[in-house]
Amino acid sequence: MKNAEIIAVGSELLLGQIVNTNARFISQQLAELGINVYFHTVVGDNPDRLLSAIKTAETRANVIIFTGGLGPTKDDLTKETIARHLGKNLVTDQKALESIEQYFARTNRVMTENNRKQAWVLEGSQILPNDHGMAPGMVLESNGNTYMLLPGPPKEMEPMFRQYGYPALASKDAFQEKIVSRVLRFFGIGEAALETEIIDLIDAQSNPTIAPLAGDGEVTLRLTAKHVDEGIAQSMLDEVEKAISQRVGQFIYGYDNTSLLSELTKVLKERKLTITAAESLTGGLFQKEMTSIGGASSVFKGGIVCYSNEVKHNVLQVKQETLEKDGAVSEQCALELAENAAALLGADIGVSFTGVAGPNELEGKPVGTVYIGVALKGRPTVVEKLTLGGTREAIRNRAVKYGCYYALR
Ligand code: ATP
Ligand code: MG
Repeated sequence: MKNAEIIAVGSELLLGQIVNTNARFISQQLAELGINVYFHTVVGDNPDRLLSAIKTAETRANVIIFTGGLGPTKDDLTKETIARHLGKNLVTDQKALESIEQYFARTNRVMTENNRKQAWVLEGSQILPNDHGMAPGMVLESNGNTYMLLPGPPKEMEPMFRQYGYPALASKDAFQEKIVSRVLRFFGIGEAALETEIIDLIDAQSNPTIAPLAGDGEVTLRLTAKHVDEGIAQSMLDEVEKAISQRVGQFIYGYDNTSLLSELTKVLKERKLTITAAESLTGGLFQKEMTSIGGASSVFKGGIVCYSNEVKHNVLQVKQETLEKDGAVSEQCALELAENAAALLGADIGVSFTGVAGPNELEGKPVGTVYIGVALKGRPTVVEKLTLGGTREAIRNRAVKYGCYYALR
């Protein structure tokens, strides 16, 4: 079994000036290839420490991928250090030299002696052409290990890896295990509660694995399976998904990179329904999100921001009695807002948002009190009361998500 280590070379990485996006990119690509990545290493532009990183990597990986330090300047030492370590010469690659010369001619710049250094390659290596810059990459087999050298700039490295690096690794017969993964997206259940429900499944699984992740008021589970046959790997995922669904399926709203909002738009399109919103608490946030999705016009007609009680009453016809007796932050107000918005705008569904985002309480109701109404033709209007925590911004953002979630039901 092959396993890889990625060594990112560059002092800027250690200084926190740039983020190691190269490691992320390469890891994702290696996952597709079915190569396990066990370690990411970051090392500065220092030959001794780079050498020690290489030696460590050789004890625990047989594919070692370097990024950075292939450039023309004094601090670019990756090639030299690897050459010395493996006892290889650096030789000029004629093709690379020509393409560097052409690059300079094309961009009308004067080539320096330094730039010739970029055409130096490890003797015996396979060259990975650089279609977006000067320094070529290379792959070398030595002592049973595979060494791949890639340039630092992502706009050079990523296309190089896709076009030349990936096939170079894929052609090696040991890389046959495929890794497939699927993300299940949950809403309406917290991370801890979800984990408690399925902890025995998580603990029992090593292939597929189940990895929970929380963020933005949502929880996801990433399921990952490995098998030489991709179809079998997919059916292994189907099986764990089924086991998870049996316990907490009611909270799953979608897969992979979707969002509550795009699921809602999709469902509305399928059912040929239109939606509108009356937004007090969220001040138009729901509508902003709705319109951020391309092609939303077939399901979203427009809506009303009804921040003040005057607008609630004068425009959305919330009864004066409701505003005086129950208040703007109330179940009754949310109900009237949702129903009247749908009627006023001629939409099939009306969603309303009213609540207290803070920092101060309102009408004697504490910060975080939220009412969301969903009026749908031919069904009794539903109003949900929530108590949300967090900042003003978090309360408003989460209210929008809940609005989508309730409208989806
Ligand atoms: P150059 O020919 O541009 O000097 P190089 O191969 O020598 O390329 P470096 O000098 O190490 O690469 O890095 C050049 C630039 O590439 C950095 O300033 C940074 O913007 C980007 N870069 C380098 N390493 C990484 C990384 N691991 N993740 C993301 N970006 C990186
Ligand atoms: Mg450089």
